[in-house]
Amino acid sequence: MGIGEVTEQLDWTGRNVTVAGLGVSGIPAARVLHGLGAAVTVVNDGDDERSRAQAAALEAEGITVRLGDGETLPSGTELIVTTPGWRPDKPLFTAAAEAGVEIWGDVELAWRLRGPDAAPWLAVTGTNGKTTTVRMLASILEAAGLRTAAVGNIGVSLLDAVLGEERYDVLAVELSSYQLHWAPSVRAHSAAVLNLAPDHLDWHGSMEAYAADKGRIYEGNRIACVYNVADKATEDLVVEADVEEGCRAIGFTLGTPGPSQLGVVEGILVDRAFVENRQKNAQELAEVADVQPPAPHNIANALAAAALARAFGVDAKAVRDGLRAFRPDPHRIELVEEVQGVTYVDDSKATNTHAAEASLAAYDPIVWIAGGLAKGATFDELVEKSAKRLRGAVLIGADRALIREALARHAPEVPVVDLDRTDTGAMSEAVREAARMARPGDTVLLAPACASMDMFTNYNKRGEAFADAVRALAATGDA
Ligand code: ADP
Repeated sequence: MGIGEVTEQLDWTGRNVTVAGLGVSGIPAARVLHGLGAAVTVVNDGDDERSRAQAAALEAEGITVRLGDGETLPSGTELIVTTPGWRPDKPLFTAAAEAGVEIWGDVELAWRLRGPDAAPWLAVTGTNGKTTTVRMLASILEAAGLRTAAVGNIGVSLLDAVLGEERYDVLAVELSSYQLHWAPSVRAHSAAVLNLAPDHLDWHGSMEAYAADKGRIYEGNRIACVYNVADKATEDLVVEADVEEGCRAIGFTLGTPGPSQLGVVEGILVDRAFVENRQKNAQELAEVADVQPPAPHNIANALAAAALARAFGVDAKAVRDGLRAFRPDPHRIELVEEVQGVTYVDDSKATNTHAAEASLAAYDPIVWIAGGLAKGATFDELVEKSAKRLRGAVLIGADRALIREALARHAPEVPVVDLDRTDTGAMSEAVREAARMARPGDTVLLAPACASMDMFTNYNKRGEAFADAVRALAATGDA
């Protein structure tokens, strides 16, 4: 009998489970399974000092660890629980498939281990906006007096949320495409796909495979599948999904909503889905000004969060109160300061072109600071769409030539400063150059469209370097 055939009531005693990867999801998974009585072996590619220390701690608890070989399937394995980031084409997984061994990710494990009266999941995925939307959703659910938490690919781990002491009425769950790939039986109360743009294609193999993994979030939904009216690919995923009888497709739009949609009318967020007589009626939820920051893509995030909350039965007032109480996480279109009439905005989290396109659409005119590691992206479409808003551009980082060439092709009139340096201090120079180009009323926007690791430890550090340089500029007139 495969382990997957039985669910939460499974007797784990003596079951041979292989945990793939020592890391933030692997270590807790190994401990939980060991605690349930399973015979756990952790396999890991690396064999460095850190993994040796982690292995020693686990072995002291009675868990077997094999370092330096994350590829060979341990004999007798009945189930693999994998770190979500491990690529599906790894030999370990091919061997498992050949042996008929199931593979679960961290999310699947949490789903299978949840108790019989566990809180339902309101789930969110998409290429961009997941964290923001899930946090908005949790804020709305809290405003409704519900016991909830933002969990998953964000803050609290799902395993902690389903096995911990804390009792929840409902969970706001962020799921990445990797997590969804390894979560075949998760069934959300309701779920949203915010948008779909090419990302992580090397991992998934193709855009189709990436979309199919994202689409899994709708499988078995009970109440609502929430999609983006402006992004047909998300609606197509709803059509393809196998849902519970009576589950509804609910669209969100920045335009006037049709029946079964949430949208915007004259600066008001309105619901034409969860109201009596939706052909004629609409319910006012909040004002655009209640959403911080009120950039178009963020209004879309707010509508998606509102749709999931309304699907769960939350009233309109709680939607407004929750949105008003919400504060965005750092480095996501964060206002740093206004200096001599120029606004400086940190969107260091815009690590791909789809995200940068959204933030460039929110300001006009812009002095754009961009560049870093392109991860195989091309910039023609982004530059073409944003060209008319650009006062100028300052380019940093390893792959800046790709952006410079796209600017030369589609926006030859836009002045470009190309900073030929990838050291951390380059950000101060970038801010100085941007300040020189900007005029009062302009926005200097850090929206790199690239990853940060060529110059910084992560996008947080990149955003902090930008903010520091802006503050220095404010204090002394020089970054
Ligand atoms: P994720 O968790 O999916 O990475 P975040 O909420 O952290 O998403 O936002 C990441 C970046 O994506 C933001 O800094 C912003 O540039 C951009 N972004 C946020 N929401 C959207 C959206 N709905 N559409 C496009 N881009 C978005």
